[in-house]
Amino acid sequence: MTKNCPFCGNEATVRDDKAGCGNPYCVCFEMPMVSIIDWNHRPEEDKLKYRIQILEEKIEFTKKDMMAQSISDVKEIRRANEILTQKVRSLRKILSED
Ligand SMILES: [Zn+2]
Repeated sequence: MTKNCPFCGNEATVRDDKAGCGNPYCVCFEMPMVSIIDWNHRPEEDKLKYRIQILEEKIEFTKKDMMAQSISDVKEIRRANEILTQKVRSLRKILSED
């Protein structure tokens, strides 16, 4: 499979086992066609794609961690609310007894 042009993103033009860009408005258009292996060899692009993958995984992990934290926070708030509600009830009871 041939990768798209690294400059304009257009589908590569393939002819006689060589690849290039067929977009006449692309900087690559005037360049000589190269072997498909050379055309597809993109170490910087591959590094960036790998880095993006790692960062997306970190984002997903962070989202899950934040979700777990907010669930924990909600549980803590509910517990505090129950305690305060009980205290208010007991104070009202004391006031009503007087
Ligand atoms: Zn191009």
